[in-house]
Amino acid sequence: EASAKVIDGKSVAKDIQGEITAEISRMKNEIGVVPGLAVILVGDRKDSATYVRNKKKSCESVGIKSYEVCLPQDSREEEVLEHISSFNNDPAVHGILVQLPLPSHMNEQNILNAVCIEKDVDGFHPLNIGRLAMRGREPLFVPCTPKGCIELLHRYNVDIKGKNAVVIGRSNIVGMPAALLLQREDATVSIIHSKTKNPEEITKQADIIIAAVGQPNMVRGSWIKPGAVLIDVGINPVEDSTRPRGYRLVGDICYEEACKIASAITPVPGGVGPMTIAMLLSNTLTSAKRIHNFN
Ligand code: NDP
Repeated sequence: EASAKVIDGKSVAKDIQGEITAEISRMKNEIGVVPGLAVILVGDRKDSATYVRNKKKSCESVGIKSYEVCLPQDSREEEVLEHISSFNNDPAVHGILVQLPLPSHMNEQNILNAVCIEKDVDGFHPLNIGRLAMRGREPLFVPCTPKGCIELLHRYNVDIKGKNAVVIGRSNIVGMPAALLLQREDATVSIIHSKTKNPEEITKQADIIIAAVGQPNMVRGSWIKPGAVLIDVGINPVEDSTRPRGYRLVGDICYEEACKIASAITPVPGGVGPMTIAMLLSNTLTSAKRIHNFN
């Protein structure tokens, strides 16, 4: 018998997109400006192409103008840097996003450093991450996936202050900024990674778990404290011959076991995924408002 409340990211994301649509039309009416998002895709990874296509579709649906550059796998790093530079200088562009991962012959650090921080809607520039980590500082943008996780907790009225929160994973794009955000919300934060011993001992103390590992169903029911709130970032394809595509997507948390123990849980798909895109649109709107001094 499942008892956990399902945290419906799809529906929250839809609400947020509605709010963004209204704000963009107000902006357009009052100052004649439409937010613009530039996306740079290098190479032919199928998953990356899908993400970029979804981002573009979502931009259109809320009224953000999207600019797309697709470069072949064997492009030179300088070409990417040139596109970034021209978007940095383009007043119609308020957000610049470089789809990761980049081909291995490119230096990701050089490329992320080149995005001007005022347009860094992914929040991956080291200056934005550094400010996120420092007390009394404010980043211009917070990375979209972790921001979406926190937004879900807020919209479901989950108390964070003083709670034990555990983040599984410490990547630059999800785990690490998620831990920083939880700490800013006054949680007591533990971080689990691939060298952590007995992770289940740590997760069992957690009131809130954010799992961003990339290991299907890693977090079992026995790892979870009764009543915990679970945010599952993982998107893992597992073989499933009953599906037309031959696979289905599962999270990092074993949903069937966890939903009997947790008080609330995000499904995969339909949890964090749609929130990531909603936060990207939100960051792009915020950027356009800031650049044009519009409130
Ligand atoms: P990375 O591979 O960059 O990072 C994975 C992290 O998990 C690392 O810190 C790694 O530890 C840790 N880890 C790996 N195996 C274990 C293990 N057995 N036990 C404990 N920790 C482990 O992944 P990402 O952060 O980019 O993504 C994580 C997941 O989230 C993926 O499934 C991805 O598809 C999904 N994702 C979903 C998004 C969404 O919008 N919903 C957006 C981005 C990602 P170490 O640091 O020691 O190597």
